[in-house]
Amino acid sequence: MVFSSALIENAVNEFSRLPGIGKKTALRLVLHLLKQEPAQVQQFSDSIARMREQIRFCKDCHNVSDEDTCSICISHSRNKQMVCVVESIRDVMAIENTQQYNGLYHVLGGIISPLDGVGPEQLNIHSLVERVQQKGVTEVIMALNPTIEGDTTIYYLSRRLKELPVKITTIARGIAFGGELEYADEMTLARSISNRLPLESYVQQK
Ligand SMILES: [Zn+2]
Repeated sequence: MVFSSALIENAVNEFSRLPGIGKKTALRLVLHLLKQEPAQVQQFSDSIARMREQIRFCKDCHNVSDEDTCSICISHSRNKQMVCVVESIRDVMAIENTQQYNGLYHVLGGIISPLDGVGPEQLNIHSLVERVQQKGVTEVIMALNPTIEGDTTIYYLSRRLKELPVKITTIARGIAFGGELEYADEMTLARSISNRLPLESYVQQK
C-alpha cells in the first residue's frame, strides 16, 4: 500500500496492529476518522488512552474495574457465597450477558498450559483458595473452556480446594468439546450455568 502522507500511513499501521484488522480495513477506519471533526477524534483517542492508563483490576476477583473493588463484588444484590471461576474477563462478560447468574466471579487470568509455559503459579489461584478459606464461600463453579487445558485446570483447582468445606461444581457441557465460552450462544451458556454438575458426576461421565 502506497501512501502520500506519512501521518495517514502511521495511523493505518497502528490500526492494522489490532486483531482482525487488515491494512484495507485499517485504511477505511482512518479515512472515516479523517471525515470527523477534530474534537470528536480527540475524544475517541482520549477515551482509549484514559482506559489504558486508568484501568484497574478488582482486588478480590481480578475483573477489570474503575475502583479497587469491581461493581460485581461490591453489589449488595449478588450471592457472595457463590464464586464462578473463569479464565478471562471476556468470560465474565459472556456469563453476565446470560443474566442467569447472581454470584461472584474469580478471574484466573489464563489457564494451566504446560506447552505454553503457563503453570499454576502464573494464575490467580492462591487468591481463590484464600477467598474460599476466608470469605464464607460455599460453592465454587468451574466455568472454564471445555478443552484439555480447561480440564487440567479444573482438576488442579479441585485438588487445591479438596480440604475446604466447599461444594465444587462445573458448568454442564452443553458447549462442544474444544469450543470456547465467549463464542457460545447465550442459550447454551445460560443452560450450562443452570444445569451445572457436581464435579464427581462430571468426572464419572468422561
Ligand atoms: Zn470483583
